[in-house]
Amino acid sequence: MCAIFGIAGADEAAKLAYLGLHALQHRGQEGAGIATTQDAKPYVFKRQGHVGEIFSPDVMRDLPGRSAIGHTRYSTAGGNTALNLQPLVMKSALGWIAVAHNGNLVNAGEVVHRLETEGAIFQSTTDTEVFIHLMARSPHRELVPALTYALSQVQGAYSLLVLNSRQLIAARDPMGFRPLVLGDLRGSPVFASETCAFDLIGARFIREIEPGEMLVVDLDEVSRWESLRPFPKSPHKKCVFEHVYFARPDSNVFGSNVHGVRKALGRRLAKEQPVPGGEVVIPVPDSGVPAAIGFAEESGIPFDMGIIRSHYIGRTFIEPKQSIRDFGVKLKLSPIRSCVEGSRIVVVDDSLVRGTTSKKLIKHFRDAGAREVHLRISAPPTTSPCFYGIDTPTRAELPASSQSIEEIRRYIGADSLGYLSLSGLIEVASASSASGFCHACFSGEYPTAVSNK
Ligand code: 5GP
Ligand code: SF4
Ligand code: MG
Repeated sequence: MCAIFGIAGADEAAKLAYLGLHALQHRGQEGAGIATTQDAKPYVFKRQGHVGEIFSPDVMRDLPGRSAIGHTRYSTAGGNTALNLQPLVMKSALGWIAVAHNGNLVNAGEVVHRLETEGAIFQSTTDTEVFIHLMARSPHRELVPALTYALSQVQGAYSLLVLNSRQLIAARDPMGFRPLVLGDLRGSPVFASETCAFDLIGARFIREIEPGEMLVVDLDEVSRWESLRPFPKSPHKKCVFEHVYFARPDSNVFGSNVHGVRKALGRRLAKEQPVPGGEVVIPVPDSGVPAAIGFAEESGIPFDMGIIRSHYIGRTFIEPKQSIRDFGVKLKLSPIRSCVEGSRIVVVDDSLVRGTTSKKLIKHFRDAGAREVHLRISAPPTTSPCFYGIDTPTRAELPASSQSIEEIRRYIGADSLGYLSLSGLIEVASASSASGFCHACFSGEYPTAVSNK
């Protein structure tokens, strides 16, 4: 998963992009980059690491111009990560083009194979380069028709920002898997994966970029942007996991506040999977906190922060090796003995993926004296991998793909285990936005063909 940010026609565009990426850091911690343009030339800087470490004052001075796009990257292990950083800037008969992409194409393998047999040479293993190759090979010599040509050949998830010397284009795939919003900063159009980036820089939220929309900003006249819909309409398949886990709680995603949705998921969970006799509700921080608040409100069981999260290490899920991940759980989450000792505790987390976090935690809670540990998950069992940009493990590593809830309960060592139903999740997520959701990682119902990747 990744984040994108863009701004057109603003003083200090690179600094605003830096701040926007800072707010979006939770969507990817592997690396980040910013591309700008001035006097028709491109400037780009990207590195591995966190946004705050990458962009020093010296680096910012080398990113001149009034328009910028930026990216933070999150990915799996493997591959040459430096080459895969974004924005990707390349030169072709169209001139230079910079691209920043959030999502994952399901037919990238097929397209790359076809282009390579025609002689194309790929520098990276990212889908982002696929867009650039397809644009460069289009019969068109203008950016908008070239991008339309490229996008009509790809399938899957993309929220995309494209910059050249004359235009900034924002595009979202027809199913709308990944979020992308439009804002305004004193007359300059701003684009971001999530609204929390607008809040930080003081931009006003205007609306979502609609699924299937291409919004074109002319850099000479940024206040007059044009909205195009070059693709056939499709049912919307917005990623419900953005609400469950991925997005930041202060963002509004797909028309709903993420914190509010997570609390409502927790309330629904308390109705569907109550814990009679539960004495205290404890969240797995940070992502489990809103659902635990909702669970406590609905059940009347008192809420307590019975566990401390160290903020000095990253999200453990991202660590590539199982041995390191197990170690990470110990480093990261530490129960508070006085909150749990002798009690029948209800632990609430947002999702159970491999089960590593829960298994370790439950042991830590028992070691700290908990009498009974009841785990409640504010999402359904994760049964299937994601092909649309979230780094879920393979099916074989997902216990819920082959085991019953009772088998998982025994594996993680909980006294009881309860998940939210799929219908509960979709009803809550749809409460303030009518549009359809992708829920393939919970249901196995993929909205596209997925076999080519
Ligand atoms: P598990 O240990 O079951 O594999 O992971 C579950 C925990 O990982 C939950 O606390 C959940 O908040 C978190 N999680 C779920 N999906 C992701 C993800 O895509 N990335 C990261 N970093 N954490 C995740
Ligand atoms: Fe989101 Fe899951 Fe669909 Fe992937 S499979 S896009 S994580 S809902
Ligand atoms: Mg978590």
